[in-house]
Amino acid sequence: MIYADNAATTKMSCTAIDAMLPYMNELYGNPSSLYGLGQRAKEALEEARERIAACIGASPKEITFTSGGSEADNQAIRSAALLGARKEKRHIISTAFEHHAILHTLKKLEGEGFEVELLPVGELGTITAQQVAEAIREDTALVTIMYANNEIGSVLPIPEIGAVCRGRDVLFHTDAVQAAGHLPIDVKAQNIDLLSLSAHKFHGPKGAGVLYARQGIPLSSIIEGGAQERGKRAGTENVPAIVGMAAALEEACAHMEENTTKVSALRDRLIAGLSQIPHSALNGDPVSRLPGNVNFCFEGIEGESLLLLLDDRGICASSGSACTSGSLDPSHVLLAIGRPHEAAHGSLRLSLCEENTEADVDAILKAVPEIVGYLRNMSPLWKDKVSGQKEFVL
Ligand SMILES: *Cc1c(COP(=O)(O)O)cnc(C)c1O
Repeated sequence: MIYADNAATTKMSCTAIDAMLPYMNELYGNPSSLYGLGQRAKEALEEARERIAACIGASPKEITFTSGGSEADNQAIRSAALLGARKEKRHIISTAFEHHAILHTLKKLEGEGFEVELLPVGELGTITAQQVAEAIREDTALVTIMYANNEIGSVLPIPEIGAVCRGRDVLFHTDAVQAAGHLPIDVKAQNIDLLSLSAHKFHGPKGAGVLYARQGIPLSSIIEGGAQERGKRAGTENVPAIVGMAAALEEACAHMEENTTKVSALRDRLIAGLSQIPHSALNGDPVSRLPGNVNFCFEGIEGESLLLLLDDRGICASSGSACTSGSLDPSHVLLAIGRPHEAAHGSLRLSLCEENTEADVDAILKAVPEIVGYLRNMSPLWKDKVSGQKEFVL
């Protein structure tokens, strides 16, 4: 099997699993319990907090554990909106191609009296700090802009956007779920006020994430209950997963440079090979791009058929994101970068990690052109295009 869907989730590393095992076996105490067994769990929790804080340039007090990236995104936006509303600030700036954890939360806030402004991301799928500067108003409560896009891989100018927001005294949140463990993050140097990350995107376990909030920014709990996480997130902490997350993030950050070199070379070879397919187009920024992300549109192809035939050959890939597959809607990300509806249905995302090999790339480069050719040959629409009766869009 060739796993090329690391933007959907990753395989857990042995380091993460080994770190977790004791907390699923003998060290199963509740960190809120006062006896020794509970305190051992509490110590593990606090050590994980310190290690994760160190990886992103934060201090441990600024780290709140959540159930993952979606919860961290929800809580960051809700907390900032509440703070804004107290000062009559109800304007929120974001982009059209955020993850649904962001977009759906913003949609709800619109129904609660907030005004949401989604900045256009252009053909390459990025925005400039200048766009943010021009959009900020007196009543802007929050700017929330992702660090890197999960579908098309564009990496956004986060330090520049951070500087603009800090200069205008506006809270800045970034969904860094695709960046954490893959790109350098320094919340202080990059002027980030709130940041979300998720363990299962960097070889940690599913169901664990972090919300970083700069000291002095109060978080409001979205789950009512006990006083865990200093009252910011009720519920018994998932100690094994949190310990695994810390181990995975440390490992990813320690090997970031070598992983980036290896993975981006594989990515570039894939991009060069797939570009040879006629009527295809790379999606996303060709330069400022996640090391492992490859995303193409192939005209005349249904993404779903392509994925099923790739699966037959043992290749795991995705079309759009895991969240939109299963629905027949075209990707909101591809529509945001201006791809026509027809092309937005025919996209393929391959997301690589350091465990992928040259042989994986060779196999993908053999399979994709064959399958694309096969599907096009079966399509009456494609025949119309080849004969000139219909126009190509790519
Ligand atoms: C995966 C992902 C999320 C959601 O994280 P979960 O831990 O799966 O809830 C949010 N944002 C981005 C950009 C993602 O890639």
